[in-house]
Amino acid sequence: MRRDPLPPFQAEAAAPDLPYAQLAVLIARLARTRSLELHVGHGRSSWCKLAGGEFGARMGPLGSIIYVRGDDRTGLERLRADWDADLAQQFPGLALDWSRLDREGAPPPNFSLARLAGVSRLAGAFLRLRIEGPDLDRFARQLIHFRLVIQPNTRRAPVWPAIGARGQVIWPKGADALHRPVYTVRAIDAGQGWMEADVFLHPGGRAARFARQAPANAPIGLTGPGGGGIPQASRLLIGGDETAYPALARIIAAQDQKAVGECHLFGKDADYPFPAHPGIRVIHAPQGEAALAARLVRTPTKAQAVWLATERSALTPLKAALDAGAAPHAPDPHLAVYWTATPKEPPHE
Ligand SMILES: Cc1cc2nc3c(=O)[nH]c(=O)nc-3n(C[C@H](O)[C@H](O)[C@H](O)COP(=O)(O)OP(=O)(O)OC[C@H]3O[C@@H](n4cnc5c(N)ncnc54)[C@H](O)[C@@H]3O)c2cc1C
Repeated sequence: MRRDPLPPFQAEAAAPDLPYAQLAVLIARLARTRSLELHVGHGRSSWCKLAGGEFGARMGPLGSIIYVRGDDRTGLERLRADWDADLAQQFPGLALDWSRLDREGAPPPNFSLARLAGVSRLAGAFLRLRIEGPDLDRFARQLIHFRLVIQPNTRRAPVWPAIGARGQVIWPKGADALHRPVYTVRAIDAGQGWMEADVFLHPGGRAARFARQAPANAPIGLTGPGGGGIPQASRLLIGGDETAYPALARIIAAQDQKAVGECHLFGKDADYPFPAHPGIRVIHAPQGEAALAARLVRTPTKAQAVWLATERSALTPLKAALDAGAAPHAPDPHLAVYWTATPKEPPHE
């Protein structure tokens, strides 16, 4: 993890078609040939430090994000020009739209403002949000998750994130701090300017409170996309609790009609409307993560794609089963923590 402070002046540019791995190779080569200090963060980012700042890249929601950071404005511009030249030499034709210091006050590049056009009851414990706005195209590509950006109080004038004087993104703080939970795009028609997300109503959830109480056409922020895409295979093993039901529905809908498999629902109820599929058996097993893990240890699955998402501690036995070889034909199983249960307070003496 990075411990030193970030240089204060920043600029970045999205390169959605350039895989991060290619940039990591270039950055490592530049570090080696120019004797620069190379840093690598968990295989997802690399940067070189040099006098006046640093340049680097990280994995983006699509492709890569290329960045430069400087100790002052002049240093930033100098480093950006040098980094641009190296990139142009290595990747001729790469067109970068750098965030600029003179864009102070503009929204961050992956943020857009939309409105809550409607809320409808979908199942006992789900509300469906209809979100309308411009610039939804990016949510209609392969990544299916995004963050809702919700104001703390719908009666106050909203304060949204903006690019600061030094090119950095400034998120509102204190009473204006925004809530940013992750959701799944359940349906979208970017051309018509709408998308839908299904919110599971768990006790104390701020997103559900917003959905229930927000006035008609309340402004809502969107960031992303991010997370994963949709697996496709001829044999699948998928499952999750309520928070994963919208993603499971999208996975089922995207499969070939000849695909076969199991979809395990670990939530309390199973009245969420899943699309019908002739070969995928939907199995309702409330809190059945550990039982499925035990079954997989006894009898490994023949599935070529495994996709499981649920609460953090409930995921642990499934992860252990897969680590022990429970899915020998699925080279890259997707296991995701979708939420974390808050530990209960110990009883008072
Ligand atoms: C990639 C990804 C995609 C997701 N897609 C969806 C989706 O499409 N629909 C959806 O409903 N959720 C989805 N989730 C889960 C959602 O982000 C979390 O449940 C999130 O905490 C909801 O925020 P909130 O405002 O409701 O709760 P918060 O106000 O942040 O949390 C309040 C309390 O509720 C607890 N809590 C959070 N989730 C649950 C839960 N499911 N059951 C019981 N208690 C809970 C928290 O631990 C906390 O104590 C997704 C998560 C990820 C990582």
